[in-house]
Amino acid sequence: MMGHSHALSGVVGWMAVVPLVQGTEFFGLSFDLGPGEIIAGSLVCAGAALLPDLDHKSATVTKTYGKVTEVLGGMLGYLFGGHRMGTHSFFFAILMGVIVQLLALWSEMAVQVFVFLLVGIALQGLGFGLDKNRVASGVINALATAGITLALFSTGVNYTWLGLAVAFGVILHFFGDMVTKMGVPIFWPLWKKRIGQGKGFVTDGPVEQKVVTPLLTVGIIVGSVYLFDWPAILPEY
Ligand SMILES: [Zn+2]
Repeated sequence: MMGHSHALSGVVGWMAVVPLVQGTEFFGLSFDLGPGEIIAGSLVCAGAALLPDLDHKSATVTKTYGKVTEVLGGMLGYLFGGHRMGTHSFFFAILMGVIVQLLALWSEMAVQVFVFLLVGIALQGLGFGLDKNRVASGVINALATAGITLALFSTGVNYTWLGLAVAFGVILHFFGDMVTKMGVPIFWPLWKKRIGQGKGFVTDGPVEQKVVTPLLTVGIIVGSVYLFDWPAILPEY
C-alpha cells in the first residue's frame, strides 16, 4: 500500500480498537481514553503504521526528516535485512513497542518529543508535504505538528498506552502490505517467507485508489461521529 493508505489505516485501526479496550486493563495498563487520547492515539498509530517502510529509500517516512530519517532508514534497512524483511515482522513490532514503552517510563519529555516526531510522520503520510512546493508544505507540516502536539500536551493526554499503540500501528502496516501482492515476512528472522505474496491487489492500482483509500476515509468519518461526544464538545446555540 501507499504511504497515505498506511497512515489512514493507522487512524481507522486506533478508532476501531478504542471501544474494545475502553475501560479494560491490559498488561497492568488501564485504558481510560478521552478525546485527547483518541486523537493522539490515532496520529501515533498513523505515524507508527509508516515506520516499517523506513527500510525503503524513497518511502514517504524516509523522506520526512531529510537526512535524519534517511540515515536512520539506511541503518534499519541494513540491520533488518533489506526492504520488506525484518522491519515487517512481529519481532520489529514488539521491539518498537518495548523501546517506546521504556521511553515512556523513563521520561515525560522524551514522550513529548517522540509524539511530536511521530505526528510529523503521520501528517506527512496523510498528505501534508506532498505538494510540489516542498518548502511551504514542510513549513505547514511543521506548524500543524507543533500545534497538535502542544494542544495534546495542554489537554494533559495520558500516554501510558504509547508503546502498545506503536506496536499496533506497526502491525497494521503488515496487514496493509499483505492485502497487496507484496507479502510480508511476519515471522522473520525465524521464517523468512513472505506471507500473502502474489495475492491481493496492486499497490496504488485502481482497487487501492478507488476502493481502499475512500473506504478508509469513510471509516475515519464514521469513527469520529461514533467515538466523540459531540454535544459535549460543540458549543450550545
Ligand atoms: Zn511496507
